Amino acid sequence: MKFQSPWQQNSFGQFILVIRRLMRPFGNLENFLIEKLTLAQNQRVIQYLKNNPASSLLLILPRCVKKTGCRADVQNGLEECLHCNQCVLGDVALLCESYGIDALVAFRSHIAFEMARTRNPDLIIATACHDRLIKALRAVPDCPALLAPLPPMPLVCRNAGVDLQWLDKQLSLVCRPEDTVPAEPMPIHSNLPKVRAAKNS
Ligand code: SF4
Repeated sequence: MKFQSPWQQNSFGQFILVIRRLMRPFGNLENFLIEKLTLAQNQRVIQYLKNNPASSLLLILPRCVKKTGCRADVQNGLEECLHCNQCVLGDVALLCESYGIDALVAFRSHIAFEMARTRNPDLIIATACHDRLIKALRAVPDCPALLAPLPPMPLVCRNAGVDLQWLDKQLSLVCRPEDTVPAEPMPIHSNLPKVRAAKNS
C-alpha cells in the first residue's frame, strides 16, 4: 500500500503557504500551525506503519549535532559512530543498532531530499526548524516521514540537541508495529531530560 498524504496535492501546499503568510504578523501562530500539521503527519505515518513496517531509515538532523571536525561519512551509515560515541550521533547509532535498523544521516535539506528520492528509505525521521519541516513535506510527500520541530536554541545553529527519548519512541513504533499504537500522535517534544546536545566546543 502506498503512503497517502494531502501534501501529494500541489494545491494543498499552495493553500498552506497562503495561510502561513496570513498568520505571519501574529507572533507564534505560524509555528503553532506547523506543529499541528506535523502532528497530523505523524499520525498518518503511524497508521501506515501498522501494515508497512520499515527496515531502512533516513534521519534528517541539523548539521550542528555532529562534532566539529569529525570526518565520518554518516551519509553512508553510522558504523564509525558506534565505536566513537564522541557526540550525539554515537547515541543515535547505538539506538538504531538496538532496533536492528539501518540508518543514514543527512544534514542539508537538498542532500536529504536527494537521498530520500534515490535511496528510497522505508521511513524518514526528521528533526529540523519549523520552516524546513514544511519544505520536507512538500519536497518528498510520497515518503512517510515522522517529524519533530527543533526546540528553541540559545544561538542559531549552535549546540542543537537530539531528543533521544522521542527518537527511541519513534523507532519502537517503526520497528515493533505490533506494539500498541497510540490513538493520539506522539507529543513532538517530550520535555524529558534524555536530550544530548552536540559537544562542539
Ligand atoms: S560519534 Fe560523532 S564524532 Fe564520533 S564518528 Fe560519529 S559523528 Fe563523528
